[in-house]
Parts: sequence; structure tokens; C-alpha cells
Amino acid sequence: MLRRMFGALSTLLFPRRCIACGEYVTEAMHGICMRCRYDIPLTNYWLEEDNPVKERFAGIAPIVEGSALFFYSGHGFWRSLVHRFKYGGRWHIARTMGRWYGAELKCSGRYDDVDVIVPIPLHPVKMLKRGYNQSAYLAEGMAEMMGVSVERGALYRRRNNPSQARRHTAERWQNIENLFAVRHAERLRAKHILLVDDVLTTGATMTEAIRAITDAVPDCRVSVAALAVTRRITAIR
Ligand SMILES: [Zn+2]
Repeated sequence: MLRRMFGALSTLLFPRRCIACGEYVTEAMHGICMRCRYDIPLTNYWLEEDNPVKERFAGIAPIVEGSALFFYSGHGFWRSLVHRFKYGGRWHIARTMGRWYGAELKCSGRYDDVDVIVPIPLHPVKMLKRGYNQSAYLAEGMAEMMGVSVERGALYRRRNNPSQARRHTAERWQNIENLFAVRHAERLRAKHILLVDDVLTTGATMTEAIRAITDAVPDCRVSVAALAVTRRITAIR
């Protein structure tokens, strides 16, 4: 009762706003207004048996399911939202977007047997500089809606590789070989693992993460969920 009263009071004093456009929203909107929900370029990949994200890993690092919530395009508004939670300290945006994505995956019924979510880790040096791992907040929001747990410590980055964004494709592949390793293999044994990242650009980083996990834990199954995906993902083979 007291908690509910406090909740109502805090909404009155600190009204919730849409994380994307700043409009006021009710609690039921989970932080994103109707207009923004309608506006975002969703992929709807999580509803499809075969889709470009899943196909991206076919024959390289096989996965059970693969999807992305929206298209990450040129100079778009949604791209700047990703920048805000990635570089601008606004980690709570990642958690809110994660809740939305997690609810969509749950509704699809295609991710029902996922046991655990593993966010793509940052190197400790980058983590110290940024103060948080945006993918871990995404994972937390998704896990909350999907009713599963997050395993933060199982996968780690062995090197602090520079940003992949400005590299050419060939360089990216050379730069990331054996980038990840698994620390507590027993925690992932026989599980269906959902690997979560913010943006899927070439799929190279994700491929290394899948390889590290399936090498260390041969009896697990892996699925992939990126918040955003570039439209060129299908063109790179
Ligand atoms: Zn909005």
C-alpha cells in the first residue's frame, strides 16, 4: 500500500517521459510513447523462421534463432538514441529498449526455451572508462520481460581492441580472432544461451563470441539478439 502510494507520488512529482522524444507517458507505456513505437523501423525478424540475421551466421557459427529489433540507418533518430546510451551515459535507455525487445521476443514464442542471456562484454579498461556495459543493461531489460537470468561473468574479452567502426572489413576480421573466452563454462552447460549486443554491423564480433562459447561449452545452443542491425548485413559474406 505504502509502496503504491509512493509510486503514485513519484509519478506526480517526476512524470515519466518517453526515452526517445521526451513526451509524457503513462507507466503502462514502459518508457516509450505510441508515436515512437509506430515510428521506429522495426525489422520484425523475430517473427520469421528465416531472416537476414540468422542467415548471416549460417555455415559460419550456426545459431538457433537470430534477430534485431530495428534497422540502424545512416543519420536516423534511432541511431542517435543508440549513441546516447552507448557514449552519452544514458544507460537507462538501454534497459528500457531491452524491455521492449524482450517483450517482443516473448510474444513471438520463438525464444521460449532460452535459459540465460549473455551480454557481449566490454574489456575492463573500456568498462572503467565508460562506467557501464550498455549491452548488459539491454540484457537486463530483456531478461526481465522474458523471465530468464543474465550471466554477466561467463564470457570475457581477452584484448581491448580498438573500435571496429572505422576499420575495413578485412581488418575487422583479423583484429578480432580469439577475442573472447569463457570463464565459468559450467554455468552455461547444456543451456540455450541468448547472446545480446547493441548493434550488429558485420557480425564479426558476434561470430567470435559464438565460437568462444561453442568451443568451451559444446553441449550448449546459441541464439543471437542485437538491438539494431545495419541494412548491409545481408550483403557481407
Ligand atoms: Zn516518444
